[in-house]
Amino acid sequence: MLDVPDFPKPGVIFKDLMPLFADGDVFREVIDGIVAYHGRDSFDAVVGIEARGFVIAAAIAYATGVGVVPVRKAGKLPRATHSASYALEYGEATLEVHQDAFTAGHRVLVVDDVLATGGTAEATLDLVERAGGTVAGFTVLMELGFLKGRERLAPRPVHALLSI
Ligand code: IMP
Repeated sequence: MLDVPDFPKPGVIFKDLMPLFADGDVFREVIDGIVAYHGRDSFDAVVGIEARGFVIAAAIAYATGVGVVPVRKAGKLPRATHSASYALEYGEATLEVHQDAFTAGHRVLVVDDVLATGGTAEATLDLVERAGGTVAGFTVLMELGFLKGRERLAPRPVHALLSI
């Protein structure tokens, strides 16, 4: 993991997990660790949050034999969607999921690389439920604890491989 100062804007130290993704042994360990934590029979689908979440979700889906569903930034999905907006420091972001992404009662594991303020995750968990899924778990590779995302998501449990 690398600290990148002043990205994407001055004053922010961006945690770059790309080196972890690029190391085959480490990446496999991470994916196996997530699957072992949740148990391979505890979910029927895995959601990845655009864009780095896609990489994690696809690997978990392949390892466990479930399908992968993308939650994408506004305007990227081709069919009818549910949308959820949340406030950023400046402005607003919107995420979307296909309305027919899940069948009722589908147990959905949601994954992303980093949990910061929790706005992205909160919107995504809301979308999963509005699309008919049941959130079976939420896992990130790294949690930035000082931004209190975990508190924002409470009482929904958050699993982080690493907390700083
Ligand atoms: P939040 O909505 O503030 O929790 O931000 C989490 C989202 O922004 C996730 O989708 C992350 O991929 C991304 N993100 C925020 N901070 C970082 C970081 O330091 N490194 C990598 N991704 C980050």
